[in-house]
Amino acid sequence: MLFSEILKDLDWEETGKSIYAKTSRDVERALAKAQTPGAEINLEDFKALVSPAAAAAPYLETMAGLSRTATQKKFGKTIQFYIPLYLSNACTNHCIYCGFNHENKFTRVTLTDEQIMEECKVLKQMGYEHLLLLTGESPKEAGIDYLEHAMQLVSPYFAQISLEVQPMDTPDYERLRKSGLHAVYVYQETYNKERYKFYHPAGMKRNYEWRLNTQDRLGLANVNKIGLGALLGLEDWRIEAFCMAMHLRHLQKTYWRSKYCVAFPRMRPHEGEGYQPQHVVSDKEFCQMIWAFRLLDDEVEMSLTTRESRDFRNHMVSLGITSISAGSQTDPGGYAHPNTEVAQFEINDNRSPVEMKKMIEEQGYEVVWKDWDKVYDFHDVKA
Ligand code: SF4
Repeated sequence: MLFSEILKDLDWEETGKSIYAKTSRDVERALAKAQTPGAEINLEDFKALVSPAAAAAPYLETMAGLSRTATQKKFGKTIQFYIPLYLSNACTNHCIYCGFNHENKFTRVTLTDEQIMEECKVLKQMGYEHLLLLTGESPKEAGIDYLEHAMQLVSPYFAQISLEVQPMDTPDYERLRKSGLHAVYVYQETYNKERYKFYHPAGMKRNYEWRLNTQDRLGLANVNKIGLGALLGLEDWRIEAFCMAMHLRHLQKTYWRSKYCVAFPRMRPHEGEGYQPQHVVSDKEFCQMIWAFRLLDDEVEMSLTTRESRDFRNHMVSLGITSISAGSQTDPGGYAHPNTEVAQFEINDNRSPVEMKKMIEEQGYEVVWKDWDKVYDFHDVKA
């Protein structure tokens, strides 16, 4: 069964009511389970952990401590480093919250082979082994053929290649695995089907179900790692978190050979033009969400991008996060030729990888530049 079949029975309003009705007793029950070896946090417990009742200071402190212990137990005192490489900012979609929106008039760039290699040279000098390739969603400029070729170009130089591009079909993912695909991240933005149409008024991204079932298609293609998430700031984060938890559980049960990563891109209020988040998520609420996920699942990877502030990232290193980017540019060609004309989102933490590494090591953690080799990705790929 695909996830859209499961989610269609969820009533957004009623789910919200049941989360807001959770009491301190429900939170204590969930936390007691989290401290009992062998006990499993279920989705009702998860509702309690993301509810306003769990936002009380003593509960948050307990959640933070448990999240730290659970993360260290599974991942050690380590943080993985990865770097995004934007290949193209061409996009046919009209997402109202994004700088790459089709209606924004600026020069669209899709990197040539030479430009890709120029970027890679800079990223290798920074020390990166885990590369995340990103594009807008424009199959004409950056479709399957372009992506396959780009992956073949960069593959010899990096240990791990991941994608954050338009959703594709299972045979396309199978094809890309042969060129070194390790992981794919696709964010639903919002799980609220009605509101989804408002945020995505035109373009192929308007198809809610096609996007929602992308992780199923990735699971069917046996992609090693599958990422999911919601864009925080669009709708009520507590209900989005619950839908993500449902999604994660469905995928883990159905495609148990893949690993999973959740990410929480967060919009912040900003000055000037552009879409303002209607449901601002505070730092405290953001922490609550991350810790709730760690108590739900001690194996799921969680990443934090440079959207977040320096202070916030410093604090979260030891509290549940497993991977982080540093020194990121969000405009294509921006590493070799920094250009701030149009970026997909505002970067809040401009520290270099060297500075981030120092901060992480000062907390007694180790930076992992490489935790994988492509040879493991190919064990079941037919030539
Ligand atoms: S969020 Fe993605 S799909 Fe939407 S406009 Fe931006 S780049 Fe295009």
